[in-house]
Amino acid sequence: MNAPFERHGTPVHDTARTPAPPSPPRAEAPAVACDAAPPDAHDAAADLRRLRCYDPVTGLPNRLLFREQLDLQRRQAQRHGGALAVLMADIDDFRRIKHTLGRRRSDLFLRTIAQRLASCVRASDLVAGASAHERRAGLARVEGNEFAIVLTHVTEPADAERVARRMREAAGAVFAIDGIEVFPTLSVGVALYPGDGAGTDELLEHADIALGRAKDLGKDRVQFYNASMNALAADRLELESMLRRALDLGELFPVFQPRYDVRTGLPCGSEALLRWRHPKLGELAPGRFIDIAEQSRLIVPIGAWMLEAASRQNRAWQAAGLVPLPVGVNVSALQICRPDFVATVARALERSGLNPRWLEIEVTESMLMQDTAGALRALQAVKGLGARIAIDDFGTGFSSLTYLRDFPFDVVKIDRSFVQRLPEDERTAAITCGVIELARRLRLDVVAEGVETDAQRRFLQLNGCPLMQGYLFCRPLPAGDLERVRRGDAAPSTGAPVP
Ligand code: C2E
Ligand code: CA
Ligand code: CA
Repeated sequence: MNAPFERHGTPVHDTARTPAPPSPPRAEAPAVACDAAPPDAHDAAADLRRLRCYDPVTGLPNRLLFREQLDLQRRQAQRHGGALAVLMADIDDFRRIKHTLGRRRSDLFLRTIAQRLASCVRASDLVAGASAHERRAGLARVEGNEFAIVLTHVTEPADAERVARRMREAAGAVFAIDGIEVFPTLSVGVALYPGDGAGTDELLEHADIALGRAKDLGKDRVQFYNASMNALAADRLELESMLRRALDLGELFPVFQPRYDVRTGLPCGSEALLRWRHPKLGELAPGRFIDIAEQSRLIVPIGAWMLEAASRQNRAWQAAGLVPLPVGVNVSALQICRPDFVATVARALERSGLNPRWLEIEVTESMLMQDTAGALRALQAVKGLGARIAIDDFGTGFSSLTYLRDFPFDVVKIDRSFVQRLPEDERTAAITCGVIELARRLRLDVVAEGVETDAQRRFLQLNGCPLMQGYLFCRPLPAGDLERVRRGDAAPSTGAPVP
C-alpha cells in the first residue's frame, strides 16, 4: 500500500522561476496525489469523495482530508516513536492580491502557488538522513489562502525550517499575468510532534497559532510554535473582542500632532492619530492594535468614525476662533478600496460642517499599489469633494514616479526613516533634496515627518522644506491641549512621549 502523503503519479512542475502560471490541473488529477487519491472518475462514490475531500481550484486535498491523513501519520509516529512537523503557510495580503487580480486570475495564482509549494516538498530531498522509503510529505489547501504540509521522519526542527524556507523562496517568485505583477510573500507557522502537542487537533491549532504570530511579527517569515504563544493568542483574541466594543464605549479618541512652518514658527496644520483608552492596559498607540483592526476589518467603522471625529474637532477649533488649518486623517487600504469610501468622506464632512478644503486624506504608496486604478478613482472623487490628498511615508514603499504624475496629491510627506538619517547620510540627503525639488516643481507641499533634532530642522529648511512635524516641535496632543498651544496659553510639548 502506498503510504499516505507520499507523492506519486502526477509530476509537479517547478514553477518557482517560471512566472507564467501553469495550466490548471484537471479535477481528476490532483497536483499532489495521496493515498486517498480520487479513483476512477466514473465511479459515483469516487466523485463524491473527490468533492468532499479535494479542493476544486488546486486539486489538492482539503482540510478534511488533510486532518484525516495527519491523524494517520501521527498515530504511526506515536507507535514508532517518530517525529512530525506540521507547517501552515499563508499567502500574505491575499485579500488585496485577490482584489487586484480578480477571481479568474486569483484562481490561476493559487494553482501556481500550489504547484510551487508542491515542488519544494518533493519527497526525494525532503528530510536529510531519512532513507528514501521513509521520506514523506503531504500538501493540502486547507483554507482560502492557507496551505498545510505535514513532514514525517523529522529528526530536528532544522528539517522543518529548511522546508519552510524553500516554500517561501518558491512561492515568492513573481507572478505575472496580463501585465499585472504580484510579488507574493508567505508566512509559515510550524508545530512539531510530539513536543508541541500530542493530539492531531492540538497540533493543527498550534501550527495555526504560530502562523498568527508570524503575521503579527510582520509577515513574510517562519515562526515555530512555543507554549507562550497560547497566552499571546488569547491576548490577541481578547484585544479584538474589546476593540469591537471600544467604539461604542467611547474608548477611542484622536490626538493631534501639529505641523509647523518653521519660517513663521507657527502651526500650519495637524495630523489626527488614533488612540485607545483601554480599560486595563491604559492608553494604546495604533502600533498595538491597528493590525488587529485591519485583520478583523474593524478598521472600516473605526476609520469612518475617525474621519468624522477629526473633521468635527477641526470645525470646533474654527468655531472657537482659531485660524483655519488643515487636519490630516490616515486611512487604511481596506477603506479606500470600498465602493462607499467617497460617501463616507462626504458624510463626515457634511455631519461635521467642515469646509472640505480643511480635510486632508493621508494615503501610503503601498495602498495605491494594490489596486491602482480603483484607488485613483476613489481619490479623484474625494478630491472632487474639495478635500486634499497627502501621500504619506513617501519613499518607503515601491515609490513610483507615475503615482506622483497620475494621482491628485496636494502634499508629500517625507518619511521619518529618511529624516532620521539627516544630515549625515549623504545618499539620504541627496534623495531628500531630490524629493523636495520634485515636489516644488509639481507644486506640491512637502512636509518632513519625525523631525527630532535641530540639525535635521536646519538641513530641511536650508534645502527648501520649511514644513515639518516631529517631536522637536510638538508631540501628538489631546485636542484641548493643542488648542491651548495654538492660543499661546501653553508651550508645545516636545521630546519623546512618556511611555
Ligand atoms: P504615521 O501616519 O506615519 O504617523 C506618524 C507617527 O509618527 C505617529 O505615531 C506619531 O506619533 C509618530 N511621530 C511623530 N513625530 C515623531 C518623531 O519626531 N519621532 C518619532 N519617533 N515618532 C514620531 P502613532 O500615533 O503611533 O501612529 C502610528 C501609525 O498608525 C501612523 O503612522 C499611521 O500609519 C497609523 N494610524 C494612526 N492613526 C490612524 C488612523 O486613524 N487610521 C489608520 N488607518 N491608521 C492610523
Ligand atoms: Ca500619517
Ligand atoms: Ca507617516
